[in-house]
Amino acid sequence: MTNPLLVGTALPHFDDIRPEVVTPAMDVLLADANAALERVVGPDVPPDFDAMSSVFTVATERLSRAWRAVEHLTGVADTPELRAVHAENLPRITEFFTRQGADERLYAKYRALAANADAARLSPVRRKALANWLRDFKLGGADLRGAQKARYTAIQERLAELSRQFSEHVLDATDGYALYVPEPDLAGVPADAIAAARAAAEADGRAGLCKLTLHFPSYLPVMQMGRNRALREKLYTAYVTRASEFGPAERDNTPVIRELLQLRQEEAELLGYRNFAELSLVPKMAGSPGEVIAFLRDLGHRARPSAAADLAELREFAAQELGIEQLQAWDVPFASERLKEARYAFSDEEVRQYFTLPKVLEGLFRIIETLFEVKIVASSAPAWHESVRFYRIERDGALVGEFFLDLYARAGKRPGAWMDDARQRWLRADGHGLQTPVAHLVCNFAAPVNGRPALLSHDNVITLFHEFGHGLHHMLTQVEELGVSGISGVEWDAVELPSQFMENFCWEWDVLEQLTEHVDTGAPLARALFDKMLAAKNFQSGMQTLRQVEFALFDMRIHAEPGSADHVQATLDAVRAEIAVLVPPAFNRFQHSFSHIFGGGYAAGYYSYTWAEVLSADAFSAFEESGVLDLATGRRYRREILEVGGSRDALDSFKAFRGRAPSIDAMLRHLGIAA
Ligand SMILES: [Zn+2]
Repeated sequence: MTNPLLVGTALPHFDDIRPEVVTPAMDVLLADANAALERVVGPDVPPDFDAMSSVFTVATERLSRAWRAVEHLTGVADTPELRAVHAENLPRITEFFTRQGADERLYAKYRALAANADAARLSPVRRKALANWLRDFKLGGADLRGAQKARYTAIQERLAELSRQFSEHVLDATDGYALYVPEPDLAGVPADAIAAARAAAEADGRAGLCKLTLHFPSYLPVMQMGRNRALREKLYTAYVTRASEFGPAERDNTPVIRELLQLRQEEAELLGYRNFAELSLVPKMAGSPGEVIAFLRDLGHRARPSAAADLAELREFAAQELGIEQLQAWDVPFASERLKEARYAFSDEEVRQYFTLPKVLEGLFRIIETLFEVKIVASSAPAWHESVRFYRIERDGALVGEFFLDLYARAGKRPGAWMDDARQRWLRADGHGLQTPVAHLVCNFAAPVNGRPALLSHDNVITLFHEFGHGLHHMLTQVEELGVSGISGVEWDAVELPSQFMENFCWEWDVLEQLTEHVDTGAPLARALFDKMLAAKNFQSGMQTLRQVEFALFDMRIHAEPGSADHVQATLDAVRAEIAVLVPPAFNRFQHSFSHIFGGGYAAGYYSYTWAEVLSADAFSAFEESGVLDLATGRRYRREILEVGGSRDALDSFKAFRGRAPSIDAMLRHLGIAA
């Protein structure tokens, strides 16, 4: 019997992938990939695009496609046995891809290919794929020699260690805090949060009291709903000083931050850049730190009047309705919740009755079919669970792509929503013709019960549209080179453009009307309810925007200004003085738990959240101008953005679609900020 992970180019039979087939398949595929690596760097394979692809890309694609199938199953149908074989194989898969990415012989071969007289005749798509390979080798230190190379490697290891320490300190500081209070102190806090706090205290042998911690399910209800102001101040103070000099020295992140910033600067200089921000932006769409800083300052400047109005409204409400004369940082979540309740209250449960899954899917498919000139047809393929559906996307009867749709939460399935590729579009280098793309679209909605259709919250609907945006980027691509087809090779700060773009439809009244049908009465959503939803969405959007600008500007400045390791607090203070409408208290050590940039991969990249929102809002505004389901605009968006995928710079694609560079006007308008 054949191993289901060794099925060549076909989709694997997901229902046949038992844990015991994984290791034997990886043995074969890793051996093939290693043999291909040795062959491609050897004298038998000339530095020619097709020759190299037919040996090396064929083997690595097969390995990564099979491995992604295993990873996919750990996400949607996990079992202890599968987890064990995954953990057993992960290190050797990682080792192979890390090793080939640093192989000097392979790098030399790619450089020979680029220097080859034939390289000038490569298609622009292939030139882009080749440029990406060379860039990634260079950023991985492949140009360094001797002592420099050793230092680079040492820095990488130390940086990984420091990031790990940073996250551990935040976690330990969060875990290390507990406050036991009598129940009357929790007036206003929802009953379920109080019940959880009583149970937690009891488990600690402090029955009769309530245990509060700095974990969100405990912290947030008190900050948002708790009427005891002194308690809020106490919790807030503990929260914003986590892992700082105000706590135990062994989990103080001050020296960790300093060393991280120093080493990142040194790493950047080794690779030939002036600072870490410049290095970080090389594979991104934004051109330079200066450009990002100017973008953030412009946004901050334009959102400021709206943020000031948000704050004035909040202060007035707090003084008049809550008796809080001097609004403090620990009053803001509480007063905001009260204000939101007073002005825009509506029930999520009421909204859910209008979004039945069949109606939403039908509406979503119709939007895609209309705008992108395709048909979505129900099909079938072996899957990992009976509730999973499989569809074909066709244009003029020809297959464009396919997708699995796995919508419901269940045991063994990772929470959240995501799009993953099962297979990429690729004109295969082994002569097997065109491989069409296949996507996994995964959500965790509540499953239907008692024969009634599943009901989605409006947030669920937005999530579904978001993931379909990623899916369309992957499936509608017309690129035939693996490294730049669909989402592959798309700049990191532009990859959320198509997904966030799709979210806009969920705020479009004409579209939303078509997506709704009350589960009992069949009536569409009432306009008055929609207006409340829209107002709630834009509640305090000015203040929210400034917060994002504050974090992003701080991140970019400390990574762009050499020597910043010695004045982290001063830089943050300066950013707050420039941007914030409500400057936090002097003891606030937000940076000591800013895990995105010190414990994760967002260093000099935090701006990308706002950046992608600007791009997607501006792209959608083209549809607002021409009619949201306008065919000509849809065709242009499809051809210039979706179909080209990573084969062209995102900025060029955007300009080709929009006829100009991105502008922040549309985002501000969508946020209800008069600009
Ligand atoms: Zn996304």
